[in-house]
Amino acid sequence: MGSVTLRYFCYGCLFTSATWTVLLFVYFNFSEVTQPLKNVPIKGSGPHGPFPKKFYPRFTRGPSRVLEPQFKANRIGDVLGNHIEDPEKDHLKFSSELGMIFNERDQELRDLGYQKHAFNMLISNRLGYRRDVPDTRDAACKKKSYPVDLPVASVVICFYNEAFSALLRTVHSVVDRTPAHLLHEVILVDDNSDFDDLKGELDDYVQKYLPGKIKVIRNTKREGLIRGRMIGAAQATGEVLVFLDSHCEVNVMWLQPLLAVIHGDPHTVVCPVIDIISADTLAYSSSPVVRGGFNWGLHFKWDLVPLAELGGADGATAPIRSPTMAGGLFAMNRQYFNELGQYDSGMDIWGGENLEISFRIWMCGGKLFIIPCSRVGHIFRKRRPYGSPEGQDTMTHNSLRLAHVWLDEYKVRPEGMVGAQGRGTAWAGASLLA
Ligand code: UDP
Ligand code: MN
Repeated sequence: MGSVTLRYFCYGCLFTSATWTVLLFVYFNFSEVTQPLKNVPIKGSGPHGPFPKKFYPRFTRGPSRVLEPQFKANRIGDVLGNHIEDPEKDHLKFSSELGMIFNERDQELRDLGYQKHAFNMLISNRLGYRRDVPDTRDAACKKKSYPVDLPVASVVICFYNEAFSALLRTVHSVVDRTPAHLLHEVILVDDNSDFDDLKGELDDYVQKYLPGKIKVIRNTKREGLIRGRMIGAAQATGEVLVFLDSHCEVNVMWLQPLLAVIHGDPHTVVCPVIDIISADTLAYSSSPVVRGGFNWGLHFKWDLVPLAELGGADGATAPIRSPTMAGGLFAMNRQYFNELGQYDSGMDIWGGENLEISFRIWMCGGKLFIIPCSRVGHIFRKRRPYGSPEGQDTMTHNSLRLAHVWLDEYKVRPEGMVGAQGRGTAWAGASLLA
């Protein structure tokens, strides 16, 4: 009798542990939150379908160094999601509680956020529209001073279906951390978004809390980020154009180092170091200083900076020559942007424009630099939460345009591919057409 009981007890234990193993396996392998890199394919791998099914990473992740003061929401109204300012209750401490789910509504908001934005909207909303971010600059940058007579900047931020809190944090970080005499204007280009809060509520907020320098332009049809930026740039009147994604937070003294280089040479295009804002925790962490490259599938990648390009008399503060830019964040003289021919307006929605403008710059007498003393955080997502209007693979379409315009003898025709020569064209990198 005793041995039968013992046997059933053992079966019970085995069954319980097997169930837990299965549950833990499912949680760790299929939960979006616990697999931060799962949706980022190895460069050049996977089938080449329309991009909602596939993610071409424009940026790569770097090591994190999370610092604490960032988890301090500065507006109680923002935290509660009702957009009311209450400076009395500033400096609420949240730290690790920021992501906690207290009720069904929190759960819904978090799920909806991942679905619509591919980042944790619950935390983004709780953080509010303003927060401190850690100063991630090298110590030598903090000792640098910049001329007072720098050119003024128009900041162009193009957005499509952005989370209201992330967009507002981008705008407030720019307004709060840029000297007023250098910030000519901020131009928000709504690329025909679908969400209601990005319409009237955004207009009301701008009118009430950000009067003066912020302009909102509304595209009447979806243009994509390339034509969207061109539309914004056409309305800008500052001497320098600065392009930012709609989910960024600029760091202290971010603009002066960029403007100083452009001031010295208007044919130099400059990028800040892109710090990492985690899509899951919204934690802001420092990125290593790397430079832009590309592979022959025309995907952007980060490369280590060769020793010969580092240092010099200015050490860690020296600008670093970069073959390409990541694309989301850069600054250039407005007249030079126009002289260069802006972007390729035949490119749609997303992808490839960053390499195209990089090649354009280097091949048309310009230079491209990463400026280590300028730091801007960007939310790195695991997937892009939107598609193109007809499901086209715009990355491939745009990359082919770039190959045909700029690559000349570097274009190759894959083995066995027929028909190209008859039309007097050549095929771009084989992986584009696979
Ligand atoms: N964007 C846009 N229209 C589009 C697609 C994107 O205005 O059709 C905006 C988007 O809201 C963001 C910027 O372009 O501010 C870059 O897009 P995203 O952040 O998705 O690109 P990634 O950072 O993943 O390269
Ligand atoms: Mn982005």
